[in-house]
Amino acid sequence: MSNLQDQLHRPLRDLRISVTDRCNFRCQYCMPEELFGPDFAFLPSEKILSFEEIERLVKIFVSLGVKKVRITGGEPLLRRDLPNLIERIHRIDGVEDIALTTNGTLLKKYANDLAKAGLSRVSVSLDSLNEERFFEMNGHRGKVKTVLEGIEKAAEAGLHVKINMVVQKGVNEQDLVSMAKYFKDKKHILRFIEYMDVGNSNGWKMDDVVSKKEMIEQIHQVFPLKQVEPNYQGEVAKRFQYQNEQGEIGIISSVTESFCSSCSRARISAEGKLYTCLFATDGTDLRELLRTGEDDASIIKCISDVWENRTDRYSDERNEQTMEKRKKTKIEMSHIGG
Ligand code: SAM
Ligand code: SF4
Ligand code: SF4
Repeated sequence: MSNLQDQLHRPLRDLRISVTDRCNFRCQYCMPEELFGPDFAFLPSEKILSFEEIERLVKIFVSLGVKKVRITGGEPLLRRDLPNLIERIHRIDGVEDIALTTNGTLLKKYANDLAKAGLSRVSVSLDSLNEERFFEMNGHRGKVKTVLEGIEKAAEAGLHVKINMVVQKGVNEQDLVSMAKYFKDKKHILRFIEYMDVGNSNGWKMDDVVSKKEMIEQIHQVFPLKQVEPNYQGEVAKRFQYQNEQGEIGIISSVTESFCSSCSRARISAEGKLYTCLFATDGTDLRELLRTGEDDASIIKCISDVWENRTDRYSDERNEQTMEKRKKTKIEMSHIGG
Protein backbone atom coordinates (compact mmCIF):
# COMPACT_ATOMS: atom_id res chain seq x y z
CA MET A 1 0.00 0.00 0.00
CA SER A 2 1.32 3.40 -0.98
CA ASN A 3 1.80 5.82 1.90
CA LEU A 4 1.62 8.89 -0.26
CA GLN A 5 0.51 11.92 1.76
CA ASP A 6 -0.08 15.56 1.02
CA GLN A 7 1.27 18.52 3.00
CA LEU A 8 -1.54 18.12 5.55
CA HIS A 9 -0.90 14.35 5.93
CA ARG A 10 -3.97 13.38 3.92
CA PRO A 11 -3.71 10.16 1.89
CA LEU A 12 -5.05 9.72 -1.65
CA ARG A 13 -8.03 7.35 -1.45
CA ASP A 14 -10.84 8.55 -3.72
CA LEU A 15 -10.83 9.32 -7.40
CA ARG A 16 -13.65 11.19 -9.16
CA ILE A 17 -13.61 10.95 -12.91
CA SER A 18 -15.68 13.19 -15.13
CA VAL A 19 -16.44 11.36 -18.37
CA THR A 20 -18.11 14.22 -20.24
CA ASP A 21 -18.56 17.99 -19.92
CA ARG A 22 -22.00 17.77 -21.58
CA CYS A 23 -25.34 17.60 -19.84
CA ASN A 24 -29.01 17.24 -20.79
CA PHE A 25 -29.96 19.64 -17.94
CA ARG A 26 -29.16 23.29 -17.43
CA CYS A 27 -29.38 23.56 -13.63
CA GLN A 28 -29.25 27.23 -12.73
CA TYR A 29 -26.58 26.65 -10.09
CA CYS A 30 -24.29 24.61 -12.32
CA MET A 31 -24.74 25.19 -16.07
CA PRO A 32 -27.09 28.17 -16.41
CA GLU A 33 -28.75 28.33 -19.82
CA GLU A 34 -27.54 31.92 -20.33
CA LEU A 35 -23.91 30.75 -20.27
CA PHE A 36 -24.25 27.20 -21.60
CA GLY A 37 -26.48 28.01 -24.59
CA PRO A 38 -26.66 26.46 -28.07
CA ASP A 39 -23.35 28.06 -29.10
CA PHE A 40 -21.37 26.88 -26.11
CA ALA A 41 -18.17 25.10 -27.19
CA PHE A 42 -18.13 21.75 -25.46
CA LEU A 43 -15.05 19.57 -25.73
CA PRO A 44 -14.64 17.78 -29.06
CA SER A 45 -14.45 13.99 -28.66
CA GLU A 46 -10.72 13.76 -29.45
CA LYS A 47 -9.95 15.93 -26.43
CA ILE A 48 -11.83 13.66 -24.06
CA LEU A 49 -10.04 10.74 -22.40
CA SER A 50 -10.84 7.41 -24.02
CA PHE A 51 -11.90 4.42 -21.91
CA GLU A 52 -8.43 2.90 -22.42
CA GLU A 53 -6.83 6.08 -21.08
CA ILE A 54 -9.16 6.22 -18.08
CA GLU A 55 -8.51 2.55 -17.33
CA ARG A 56 -4.76 3.11 -17.40
CA LEU A 57 -5.07 6.11 -15.08
CA VAL A 58 -7.26 4.22 -12.62
CA LYS A 59 -4.64 1.44 -12.40
CA ILE A 60 -1.99 4.08 -11.71
CA PHE A 61 -4.12 5.81 -9.07
CA VAL A 62 -4.83 2.49 -7.37
CA SER A 63 -1.09 1.92 -7.08
CA LEU A 64 -0.96 5.25 -5.23
CA GLY A 65 -3.66 4.32 -2.69
CA VAL A 66 -7.02 4.92 -4.38
CA LYS A 67 -9.73 2.45 -3.34
CA LYS A 68 -12.93 4.17 -4.41
CA VAL A 69 -13.81 5.47 -7.84
CA ARG A 70 -16.77 7.72 -8.65
CA ILE A 71 -17.89 8.43 -12.20
CA THR A 72 -19.44 11.81 -12.80
CA GLY A 73 -19.80 14.58 -15.39
CA GLY A 74 -21.56 16.69 -16.85
CA GLU A 75 -24.11 13.94 -17.12
CA PRO A 76 -22.11 10.69 -17.19
CA LEU A 77 -24.91 8.60 -18.72
CA LEU A 78 -24.60 10.69 -21.89
CA ARG A 79 -21.21 9.08 -22.48
CA ARG A 80 -21.71 6.29 -24.99
CA ASP A 81 -21.24 2.75 -23.68
CA LEU A 82 -20.60 3.80 -20.07
CA PRO A 83 -21.24 0.26 -18.70
CA ASN A 84 -18.17 -0.82 -20.66
CA LEU A 85 -16.04 1.66 -18.70
CA ILE A 86 -17.54 0.43 -15.43
CA GLU A 87 -16.66 -3.13 -16.41
CA ARG A 88 -13.06 -2.16 -17.16
CA ILE A 89 -12.71 -0.40 -13.79
CA HIS A 90 -14.43 -3.26 -11.97
CA ARG A 91 -11.75 -5.64 -13.28
CA ILE A 92 -8.92 -3.60 -11.74
CA ASP A 93 -7.45 -5.22 -8.62
CA GLY A 94 -7.66 -2.90 -5.64
CA VAL A 95 -10.79 -0.99 -6.67
CA GLU A 96 -13.15 -1.68 -3.77
CA ASP A 97 -16.08 0.47 -4.75
CA ILE A 98 -17.42 2.08 -7.94
CA ALA A 99 -20.10 4.76 -7.69
CA LEU A 100 -21.89 6.98 -10.18
CA THR A 101 -23.41 10.45 -9.75
CA THR A 102 -26.22 11.14 -12.19
CA ASN A 103 -29.26 13.33 -12.71
CA GLY A 104 -31.18 10.08 -13.17
CA THR A 105 -32.89 10.85 -16.47
CA LEU A 106 -31.26 7.92 -18.29
CA LEU A 107 -31.04 5.58 -15.33
CA LYS A 108 -34.14 3.61 -16.22
CA LYS A 109 -32.50 2.68 -19.50
CA TYR A 110 -29.05 1.81 -18.14
CA ALA A 111 -29.54 0.61 -14.53
CA ASN A 112 -29.43 -3.12 -15.33
CA ASP A 113 -26.37 -2.85 -17.56
CA LEU A 114 -24.56 -0.73 -14.99
CA ALA A 115 -25.28 -3.19 -12.18
CA LYS A 116 -24.16 -6.12 -14.34
CA ALA A 117 -20.95 -4.28 -15.19
CA GLY A 118 -20.01 -4.02 -11.51
CA LEU A 119 -21.29 -0.63 -10.38
CA SER A 120 -21.93 -0.71 -6.63
CA ARG A 121 -23.66 2.57 -5.88
CA VAL A 122 -25.51 5.39 -7.52
CA SER A 123 -26.17 8.91 -6.22
CA VAL A 124 -29.12 10.47 -7.95
CA SER A 125 -29.47 14.24 -7.85
CA LEU A 126 -33.02 15.49 -7.32
CA ASP A 127 -33.75 18.95 -5.97
CA SER A 128 -37.56 18.88 -5.69
CA LEU A 129 -40.58 16.61 -6.06
CA ASN A 130 -42.61 19.51 -7.37
CA GLU A 131 -42.66 19.16 -11.18
CA GLU A 132 -42.91 22.90 -11.79
CA ARG A 133 -40.10 23.85 -9.45
CA PHE A 134 -37.87 21.03 -10.66
CA PHE A 135 -38.45 22.05 -14.29
CA GLU A 136 -37.49 25.63 -13.43
CA MET A 137 -34.35 24.52 -11.57
CA ASN A 138 -33.09 22.20 -14.30
CA GLY A 139 -33.45 24.73 -17.10
CA HIS A 140 -36.76 23.32 -18.45
CA ARG A 141 -35.32 19.93 -19.34
CA GLY A 142 -36.33 17.06 -17.06
CA LYS A 143 -39.30 15.64 -15.18
CA VAL A 144 -39.44 14.42 -11.59
CA LYS A 145 -41.38 11.37 -12.76
CA THR A 146 -38.54 10.22 -15.04
CA VAL A 147 -35.97 10.58 -12.26
CA LEU A 148 -38.14 8.67 -9.77
CA GLU A 149 -38.58 5.85 -12.29
CA GLY A 150 -34.80 5.76 -12.73
CA ILE A 151 -34.31 5.54 -8.97
CA GLU A 152 -36.70 2.60 -8.63
CA LYS A 153 -35.13 0.80 -11.57
CA ALA A 154 -31.67 1.24 -10.04
CA ALA A 155 -32.85 -0.16 -6.70
CA GLU A 156 -34.49 -3.14 -8.46
CA ALA A 157 -31.25 -3.78 -10.30
CA GLY A 158 -29.53 -4.20 -6.91
CA LEU A 159 -27.66 -0.90 -6.86
CA HIS A 160 -27.30 0.91 -3.56
CA VAL A 161 -29.13 4.20 -4.15
CA LYS A 162 -28.77 7.57 -2.44
CA ILE A 163 -30.54 10.78 -3.38
CA ASN A 164 -28.77 14.17 -3.28
CA MET A 165 -30.69 17.41 -2.94
CA VAL A 166 -28.92 20.77 -3.16
CA VAL A 167 -30.89 23.20 -1.02
CA GLN A 168 -31.05 26.85 -2.04
CA LYS A 169 -32.71 29.58 -0.03
CA GLY A 170 -35.81 30.96 -1.70
CA VAL A 171 -35.65 28.28 -4.40
CA ASN A 172 -36.40 24.83 -3.00
CA GLU A 173 -36.08 24.98 0.79
CA GLN A 174 -39.85 24.51 1.04
CA ASP A 175 -39.32 20.98 -0.36
CA LEU A 176 -37.11 19.71 2.46
CA VAL A 177 -39.87 18.00 4.43
CA SER A 178 -41.73 16.52 1.45
CA MET A 179 -38.46 15.08 0.13
CA ALA A 180 -37.62 13.65 3.57
CA LYS A 181 -41.07 12.05 3.83
CA TYR A 182 -41.07 10.58 0.33
CA PHE A 183 -37.64 8.95 0.55
CA LYS A 184 -38.13 7.80 4.15
CA ASP A 185 -41.21 5.89 2.98
CA LYS A 186 -39.32 4.53 -0.02
CA LYS A 187 -36.41 3.52 2.28
CA HIS A 188 -33.76 5.40 0.32
CA ILE A 189 -31.17 7.56 2.05
CA LEU A 190 -31.57 11.23 1.19
CA ARG A 191 -28.70 13.64 1.56
CA PHE A 192 -29.14 17.38 1.74
CA ILE A 193 -26.27 19.43 0.38
CA GLU A 194 -25.48 23.00 1.32
CA TYR A 195 -25.33 25.14 -1.79
CA MET A 196 -21.65 25.89 -2.57
CA ASP A 197 -19.69 28.57 -4.37
CA VAL A 198 -18.23 26.18 -6.95
CA GLY A 199 -17.38 27.52 -10.39
CA ASN A 200 -17.96 31.08 -11.54
CA SER A 201 -21.37 30.81 -13.19
CA ASN A 202 -23.95 30.74 -10.44
CA GLY A 203 -23.54 34.13 -8.74
CA TRP A 204 -23.34 32.40 -5.33
CA LYS A 205 -23.98 34.45 -2.18
CA MET A 206 -23.77 33.28 1.43
CA ASP A 207 -27.39 34.43 1.81
CA ASP A 208 -28.45 31.73 -0.66
CA VAL A 209 -27.21 28.95 1.61
CA VAL A 210 -29.59 27.02 3.83
CA SER A 211 -27.31 25.85 6.62
CA LYS A 212 -27.18 22.35 8.07
CA LYS A 213 -28.62 23.78 11.30
CA GLU A 214 -31.61 25.29 9.50
CA MET A 215 -32.26 22.08 7.57
CA ILE A 216 -32.21 19.96 10.74
CA GLU A 217 -34.56 22.38 12.49
CA GLN A 218 -37.11 22.22 9.68
CA ILE A 219 -37.15 18.44 9.41
CA HIS A 220 -36.90 17.80 13.16
CA GLN A 221 -40.15 19.71 13.73
CA VAL A 222 -42.05 17.17 11.63
CA PHE A 223 -39.89 14.04 11.92
CA PRO A 224 -37.75 14.14 15.09
CA LEU A 225 -34.11 13.25 14.38
CA LYS A 226 -31.09 12.09 16.34
CA GLN A 227 -27.49 12.38 15.17
CA VAL A 228 -25.62 9.08 14.82
CA GLU A 229 -21.97 8.11 14.45
CA PRO A 230 -20.37 8.12 11.00
CA ASN A 231 -20.16 4.77 9.20
CA TYR A 232 -16.42 5.26 8.73
CA GLN A 233 -13.77 7.82 9.54
CA GLY A 234 -13.89 10.78 7.18
CA GLU A 235 -17.48 10.19 6.03
CA VAL A 236 -18.53 13.44 4.39
CA ALA A 237 -22.25 13.42 5.26
CA LYS A 238 -23.31 13.88 8.89
CA ARG A 239 -25.85 11.14 9.66
CA PHE A 240 -29.23 11.59 11.36
CA GLN A 241 -31.73 8.83 12.10
CA TYR A 242 -35.47 9.27 12.51
CA GLN A 243 -36.39 8.84 16.17
CA ASN A 244 -39.82 7.33 15.60
CA GLU A 245 -39.32 5.41 12.39
CA GLN A 246 -36.77 3.47 10.39
CA GLY A 247 -34.48 5.39 8.10
CA GLU A 248 -31.88 8.11 8.02
CA ILE A 249 -30.79 11.26 6.23
CA GLY A 250 -27.38 12.80 5.66
CA ILE A 251 -26.31 16.41 5.52
CA ILE A 252 -23.28 17.59 3.58
CA SER A 253 -22.36 20.84 5.24
CA SER A 254 -19.43 21.91 3.10
CA VAL A 255 -20.08 25.59 3.75
CA THR A 256 -20.95 25.86 7.44
CA GLU A 257 -18.91 22.88 8.76
CA SER A 258 -16.14 22.14 6.32
CA PHE A 259 -14.26 18.85 6.29
CA CYS A 260 -11.02 19.58 4.42
CA SER A 261 -8.87 17.89 7.08
CA SER A 262 -10.10 14.47 5.92
CA CYS A 263 -10.33 15.20 2.19
CA SER A 264 -8.62 12.40 0.31
CA ARG A 265 -10.13 13.06 -3.13
CA ALA A 266 -8.49 13.66 -6.45
CA ARG A 267 -10.51 14.66 -9.49
CA ILE A 268 -9.92 14.16 -13.18
CA SER A 269 -11.78 16.29 -15.71
CA ALA A 270 -13.13 14.85 -18.96
CA GLU A 271 -10.11 16.27 -20.80
CA GLY A 272 -7.72 14.55 -18.43
CA LYS A 273 -6.66 17.28 -16.03
CA LEU A 274 -5.94 16.37 -12.44
CA TYR A 275 -7.43 18.66 -9.76
CA THR A 276 -6.77 18.33 -6.05
CA CYS A 277 -9.72 20.46 -4.89
CA LEU A 278 -13.26 21.22 -6.01
CA PHE A 279 -12.36 24.89 -5.85
CA ALA A 280 -9.09 24.61 -7.75
CA THR A 281 -8.12 27.11 -10.38
CA ASP A 282 -5.48 24.99 -12.17
CA GLY A 283 -5.14 21.37 -13.07
CA THR A 284 -2.25 19.16 -14.20
CA ASP A 285 -2.50 17.83 -17.73
CA LEU A 286 -2.35 14.03 -17.56
CA ARG A 287 -3.70 13.57 -21.10
CA GLU A 288 -0.54 15.07 -22.52
CA LEU A 289 1.54 12.50 -20.63
CA LEU A 290 -0.71 9.65 -21.75
CA ARG A 291 -0.58 10.72 -25.38
CA THR A 292 3.13 11.45 -25.65
CA GLY A 293 4.13 7.93 -24.72
CA GLU A 294 5.26 8.50 -21.12
CA ASP A 295 5.61 5.26 -19.19
CA ASP A 296 3.66 4.46 -16.00
CA ALA A 297 6.62 5.35 -13.78
CA SER A 298 6.77 8.93 -15.01
CA ILE A 299 2.99 9.40 -14.74
CA ILE A 300 3.16 8.00 -11.19
CA LYS A 301 5.97 10.44 -10.43
CA CYS A 302 3.94 13.38 -11.77
CA ILE A 303 0.81 12.50 -9.75
CA SER A 304 2.86 11.82 -6.60
CA ASP A 305 4.56 15.21 -6.90
CA VAL A 306 1.22 16.95 -7.27
CA TRP A 307 -0.28 15.12 -4.29
CA GLU A 308 2.78 15.60 -2.07
CA ASN A 309 2.63 19.33 -2.68
CA ARG A 310 -1.11 19.59 -2.06
CA THR A 311 -2.17 22.17 0.53
CA ASP A 312 -5.85 22.70 -0.49
CA ARG A 313 -8.32 23.55 2.24
CA TYR A 314 -10.56 26.06 0.51
CA SER A 315 -13.74 25.39 2.51
CA ASP A 316 -11.86 25.64 5.83
CA GLU A 317 -10.51 29.01 4.77
CA ARG A 318 -13.55 30.35 2.91
CA ASN A 319 -13.95 34.06 3.55
CA GLU A 320 -14.33 37.21 1.47
CA GLN A 321 -10.62 37.42 0.74
CA THR A 322 -10.20 33.85 -0.47
CA MET A 323 -13.39 34.15 -2.51
CA GLU A 324 -12.23 37.40 -4.10
CA LYS A 325 -8.83 35.88 -4.93
CA ARG A 326 -10.38 33.02 -6.89
CA LYS A 327 -13.15 35.06 -8.47
CA LYS A 328 -13.79 34.06 -12.09
CA THR A 329 -10.92 31.54 -12.15
CA LYS A 330 -12.35 28.42 -10.49
CA ILE A 331 -12.98 25.28 -12.45
CA GLU A 332 -16.68 24.77 -13.28
CA MET A 333 -18.61 22.02 -11.47
CA SER A 334 -19.74 20.60 -14.82
CA HIS A 335 -16.05 19.94 -15.62
CA ILE A 336 -15.14 18.04 -12.48
CA GLY A 337 -18.50 16.85 -11.30
CA GLY A 338 -18.90 17.58 -7.58
N1 SAM B 1 -24.99 15.56 -13.73
C1 SAM B 1 -24.78 14.72 -12.61
C2 SAM B 1 -25.71 15.10 -11.47
O1 SAM B 1 -26.30 16.18 -11.51
O2 SAM B 1 -25.83 14.29 -10.55
C3 SAM B 1 -23.35 14.68 -12.13
C4 SAM B 1 -22.58 15.96 -12.11
S1 SAM B 1 -23.21 17.21 -11.02
C5 SAM B 1 -22.07 18.51 -11.28
C6 SAM B 1 -22.76 16.53 -9.43
C7 SAM B 1 -23.48 17.09 -8.23
O3 SAM B 1 -23.05 18.40 -8.00
C8 SAM B 1 -25.00 17.15 -8.35
O4 SAM B 1 -25.57 16.48 -7.24
C9 SAM B 1 -25.28 18.63 -8.25
O5 SAM B 1 -26.52 18.88 -7.64
C10 SAM B 1 -24.11 19.11 -7.44
N2 SAM B 1 -23.86 20.55 -7.57
C11 SAM B 1 -23.70 21.27 -8.71
N3 SAM B 1 -23.50 22.57 -8.43
C12 SAM B 1 -23.54 22.67 -7.06
C13 SAM B 1 -23.39 23.75 -6.14
N4 SAM B 1 -23.18 24.99 -6.55
N5 SAM B 1 -23.47 23.48 -4.82
C14 SAM B 1 -23.68 22.22 -4.37
N6 SAM B 1 -23.82 21.17 -5.19
C15 SAM B 1 -23.75 21.39 -6.51
FE1 SF4 C 1 -26.08 18.81 -15.34
FE2 SF4 C 1 -25.58 17.77 -12.98
FE3 SF4 C 1 -24.82 20.27 -13.52
FE4 SF4 C 1 -27.40 19.76 -13.28
S1 SF4 C 1 -25.86 19.54 -11.68
S2 SF4 C 1 -26.44 20.94 -14.94
S3 SF4 C 1 -27.55 17.71 -14.07
S4 SF4 C 1 -24.04 18.46 -14.47
FE1 SF4 D 1 -11.50 18.87 -0.32
FE2 SF4 D 1 -11.15 21.26 -1.43
FE3 SF4 D 1 -13.59 20.49 -0.63
FE4 SF4 D 1 -11.69 21.08 1.18
S1 SF4 D 1 -12.62 22.49 -0.26
S2 SF4 D 1 -13.09 19.28 1.22
S3 SF4 D 1 -9.85 20.33 0.12
S4 SF4 D 1 -12.37 19.55 -2.26
